[in-house]
Amino acid sequence: MKKRATVLNCPIDLYNADEAIDKVRCALSEKRNFHIITINPEMVMNAQKDKDFFDIVCNSEMNIIDSVGMKIALKLQGINQDQIRGVDFARLLVKEAAQKNLKIAFIGAREEVVKKTCENFLKKYPLLNIVYSRNGYFDNDDEIIAEIKEKAPDIILVGLGSPRQEKFIVELKKQLHGAVMVGIGGAFDVFSGLVKESPKIYQKLGLEWLYRTVLQPERFKRIFPVLPLFLIKCIISTIAKKG
Ligand code: UDP
Repeated sequence: MKKRATVLNCPIDLYNADEAIDKVRCALSEKRNFHIITINPEMVMNAQKDKDFFDIVCNSEMNIIDSVGMKIALKLQGINQDQIRGVDFARLLVKEAAQKNLKIAFIGAREEVVKKTCENFLKKYPLLNIVYSRNGYFDNDDEIIAEIKEKAPDIILVGLGSPRQEKFIVELKKQLHGAVMVGIGGAFDVFSGLVKESPKIYQKLGLEWLYRTVLQPERFKRIFPVLPLFLIKCIISTIAKKG
């Protein structure tokens, strides 16, 4: 059965990582296109003002929560749901590709970052079948989509930042058959080793955002005031639903 909730009208799938991977396997075996969004408060807030993005969020095949802010928003509704970090989910997809000999593609980040990502994954999984990889700085989307289509990957990781990556995936989806596609934000920066992953203790406490903001202070402008505003909106929406 499909377990779904909504946060500020955005659908959220209440799956743990195993259930999410099961859904991916199912889509792969049935050769269905499958767009996964690893959703965070910034994206939910963006969906409130960008109608195209809201439609994408409503029409993707699976939205899993990628932040403690989303966990709190669900908790306000009495729902206990653990977050699945986008980087962890992307790693699971790479492992799945390696174990099942699926074709995988990496699109996004700077050239040296995506190159290093390929090298690192190939060190870990020497037989990983990377059929396509390229940096995320392009504006000839149609050409890139045609190149990807020719390689017919089973799994595509797209790290262009949101909402660019989700909008790119929607265009990709129109051309492909049976591909699992996920937007992974800055995960290639982590996989390449060029950005340090937050220590486990921060991940456990849900303070990964704080760690990243300290390392990249320019992020502060981005998440503030979005995060407090998101929580206030969620509280108001919960009270309105109860009333
Ligand atoms: N990026 C890209 N093309 C662009 C803009 C950004 O490939 O035109 C990449 C950028 O190099 C980084 C990622 O997209 O790897 C965005 O990372 P960000 O930290 O903004 O995403 P988050 O992890 O916060 O979702």
